[in-house]
Amino acid sequence: MKTAVTPLALLQPGTLDDALAMLRDEGPLVPLAGCTDVYVTLNFGTQPAARFLNLWGLDELRGIGEMDGGLRVGALATHTDLQRSPLVRERLPFLVEACGQVGGVQIQNRGTLAGNVANASPAGDTLPVLAVADAVVVLRSAEGERRVPFNGFYTGYRATVMRPDELIVAIEIPRIDGDQWFRKVGTRAAQAISKVVMAAVRGDRPRVALGSVAPTVVRLPGVEEALARGAPIEEAQRILMQEVTPIDDIRSTAGYRKRVAANLLARWWASAAM
Ligand SMILES: Cc1cc2nc3c(=O)[nH]c(=O)nc-3n(C[C@H](O)[C@H](O)[C@H](O)COP(=O)(O)OP(=O)(O)OC[C@H]3O[C@@H](n4cnc5c(N)ncnc54)[C@H](O)[C@@H]3O)c2cc1C
Repeated sequence: MKTAVTPLALLQPGTLDDALAMLRDEGPLVPLAGCTDVYVTLNFGTQPAARFLNLWGLDELRGIGEMDGGLRVGALATHTDLQRSPLVRERLPFLVEACGQVGGVQIQNRGTLAGNVANASPAGDTLPVLAVADAVVVLRSAEGERRVPFNGFYTGYRATVMRPDELIVAIEIPRIDGDQWFRKVGTRAAQAISKVVMAAVRGDRPRVALGSVAPTVVRLPGVEEALARGAPIEEAQRILMQEVTPIDDIRSTAGYRKRVAANLLARWWASAAM
């Protein structure tokens, strides 16, 4: 049954400082960005929270700019903003590809990169890209700011190091040297949640990350090390099988996910070698 909205409270901050003060003084509050994930829980009547903080009007959180050779993406940058940004298209074509795979156009127009990160689903399509990019999540509270490496942001299934009084204000993505690769495998070619999603970079050292094969998005250090020392792809595939821990669920089976992940690894490596 849908959640009745009349007993719910929506706080409307005018500035980022207001929002952080509200989180500190009037919490617990659930932040809302594009609301594409949160609305699903309201629609299914599974949203336990009753008090929400609307970030959508905070223009301070918009914008995509250059920073130390990399990019800084404001928390309210949508998947459409990222696809349209000349900077992102030039520097991070695999992020453009990932954002183009998130739901349909309506979802991409509202859904944000930071929302995808904070939602902490292991199937989030942009997460493997941020993992191989060694991105940094910029968190701010009324007390100050801290920068958390993306690869240390998740602590378990849908769990992060973010505190209830903190917001993601930006994602920083360092410059990437090397060829970028992204592939999503779902039930159908578009508008499907991933069964397996992979991002990789072949540069000075190979970097690989997978989504939907473990409680969180994962980098594959054993695979990366094997490929870096010139091991045959079959050996790297065997290591991958040990490094991932997929589950059987409504979307797929663990065995299928492992096989597909190993196939994607081989496909990427063959294409990158050409
Ligand atoms: C029909 C449909 C299809 C979808 N398809 C896909 C898909 O193919 N791939 C995919 O990856 N996702 C998909 N999604 C999920 C969703 O669209 C994305 O995860 C999107 O990026 C979420 O962004 P948002 O701004 O809408 O987040 P919201 O729904 O506003 O928030 C999501 C979570 O993040 C928190 N949050 C948001 N912003 C911040 C912030 N700045 N600081 C701290 N916490 C924050 C919220 O409190 C909430 O817990 C789909 C959703 C729908 C409804």
